[in-house]
Amino acid sequence: MLFDTHAHLNFATYKDDVGEVIKRTLKEGVFVVNVGSQYTTSKRAVEIAQNYENGVWAAVGLHPIHLVKRKINLDDSELLESEFQTAGEVFDYQKYLELAKDPKVVVIGEMGLDYHHFEEGDNIPELKKQQKDTFLEGIKLANDVGKPLMIHCWDAYDDLLEILKSNLVEKRGVVHSFIGGYKTARKFIELGYKIGMNGVMTYTTDFNRLIKEVALEDIVFETDCPYLTPVPHKGERNEPIYVKYVAEKVAEVKGISCEEVEKQTTENALKFFNIK
Ligand SMILES: [Zn+2]
Repeated sequence: MLFDTHAHLNFATYKDDVGEVIKRTLKEGVFVVNVGSQYTTSKRAVEIAQNYENGVWAAVGLHPIHLVKRKINLDDSELLESEFQTAGEVFDYQKYLELAKDPKVVVIGEMGLDYHHFEEGDNIPELKKQQKDTFLEGIKLANDVGKPLMIHCWDAYDDLLEILKSNLVEKRGVVHSFIGGYKTARKFIELGYKIGMNGVMTYTTDFNRLIKEVALEDIVFETDCPYLTPVPHKGERNEPIYVKYVAEKVAEVKGISCEEVEKQTTENALKFFNIK
């Protein structure tokens, strides 16, 4: 059994076949949390989860790139592909609180910091402040509903660490799609945070040291589908059952069995999300 702790089956890419995708996900013994990136996709994640008695849960939050309305082209990146329009949304605490109280919501996010998508002419200090203030609202929400955080962070690990050191998140969180070095990972782990690993780990040997140095107890798996499809399906639309390739890579690099990796990381996820 595996746990995809960060998927986006709530996104438009799956509008025609979300039911089928979830059916094969559960059939393969994979549990999934669908993660919201703005209000509409957060609400959709909750609605999807409500259709399933077990195996499908939701995260609600406002992604930092949706704070400003603009067109994002992800083609320049190895990590993501496609172009989309961001929302330009202001975090409405009460609206998110209503969603967050739902028992199907097991984590708040994705929220955090993204300094990667700043453009020429941006007022960077102001945008950073806006991201930080919104993230602090997310921390407050997580603490108010007693749930952990699903953190998005790109090119901003130092600032994230500073915020997490001075703002206690009672149930802690996961640094999703972690692409930093093992020393940075250790700093988050020392604070009680988990490291989220996905298909990026299969693209290169650059993360082998990270995989080796981070204890299995501190790792959770994810796909971040539809993005970041692991090898050997890179280039196709990603989906939760492909989380097994991430597990295989970690088992191979650590030199342990796939069974051990699956068992421990799934246990980590169940405990982290407080799923009984
Ligand atoms: Zn995501």
